[in-house]
Amino acid sequence: MGNLRTIKDLGTLKGKKVLLRVDLNVPMQDGTVVDHSRILGIRETVSHLKSAGATIILMSHFGRPEGQPVIGLSLSQIVPALEQGLGAKVTFAGDALAKETKTKIKNSKDICLLENLRFYPGEEANDADFAKQLAALGDVYINDAFSSSHRAHASTLGIAHHLPSAAGLGLVKEIEALTTALENPRHPVAAVIGGAKISTKISVLQNLIVKMDHILIGGGMANTFLAAQGKRIGASLNEPDLESVATTIMENAVAANCKIHLPDEVSVAKHFNATDKAIGLPLDAVEDDDMILDIGPKAIEGFIKVLRRCKTVIWNGPLGAFEIKPFDRGTNQVAEAVGNFTKKGKMISVAGGGDTVAALYHANAKGNFTYVSTAGGAFLEWLEGKTLPGIAALML
Ligand code: AMP
Repeated sequence: MGNLRTIKDLGTLKGKKVLLRVDLNVPMQDGTVVDHSRILGIRETVSHLKSAGATIILMSHFGRPEGQPVIGLSLSQIVPALEQGLGAKVTFAGDALAKETKTKIKNSKDICLLENLRFYPGEEANDADFAKQLAALGDVYINDAFSSSHRAHASTLGIAHHLPSAAGLGLVKEIEALTTALENPRHPVAAVIGGAKISTKISVLQNLIVKMDHILIGGGMANTFLAAQGKRIGASLNEPDLESVATTIMENAVAANCKIHLPDEVSVAKHFNATDKAIGLPLDAVEDDDMILDIGPKAIEGFIKVLRRCKTVIWNGPLGAFEIKPFDRGTNQVAEAVGNFTKKGKMISVAGGGDTVAALYHANAKGNFTYVSTAGGAFLEWLEGKTLPGIAALML
């Protein structure tokens, strides 16, 4: 793992207080956690630290309280899900800056959890004093939150200046998976990129064209590429201002020997519902009031044909408006194929991004991918080739 400091570098942890930065920003509905992936993702580090005889102090953000306490965003509500996911008692230690918190931690035999770090303005400002006050609660710092590591905040960056620090086991695994797919992939390597808009993924595409052999583009963002090629896209989601950017990306891809694949056949509807749909239209049959909402059956076949030959696949973004049936078909079938190729040991597949996880889950393919990252922004920044501040802070 290159020169990333790992738990081993911290020496013995027996009797030490470990400040463990995790990402408990989990989706909730009616007071209940509806996706436990992030909690399950920290289990390995937590049980390692428990067996090592350390006291664990969990810290995380939750939602966007913007530097002040918001009752509905207290991390106390996560405690039952945490206890269930970790199979251990959790004490809610509360306010990181309160005097009694230190005593609570000292007297607790359980895993401790601090209150939402974004209740303090110092967190997002990476305030040096706040970082120092957090650091004073522990003896060492471990980051197991890849999904928060693109933020230069007190709990991801500042704190590492005050304590011996290292990457947790989950973070190491995540970086290894992403590095295998992006930096040292087995070729041919392809990226499947979808989602609503090209504007959020320009830097991703620019970085990927020099690393990938193939990029398969679907979703709303494919429309801007198709429009730039003079194809008919009717009333589809499009970013006309970015057609010239799309053209440049396609030209640069040719120069970089990366083949960009766009759908040549699509599924459309006149409205955002499935009553007036047409499945599998060639682009020149798209009418002015048609919205392209998915890649068509022949395009699905074409995408799978390319992916079948690949040894590594990176995936971000759905290939269509997957929330509305039958426009989930492209995402479902291509994800199912990638999952099956992976299961058969023919490829390594790594996916990430908020909507991507939901889309792969919907496609019933999530479990078959080699690695699915729950990170949204951090995953995209990694694909852009950026150095994430929280990871840089853990380098030797
Ligand atoms: P993103 O957050 O950029 O990954 O975009 C995900 C969203 O893009 C999902 O809500 C999809 O419904 C939407 N999307 C994907 N393809 C299309 C499309 N062809 N037209 C409109 N929305 C789409």
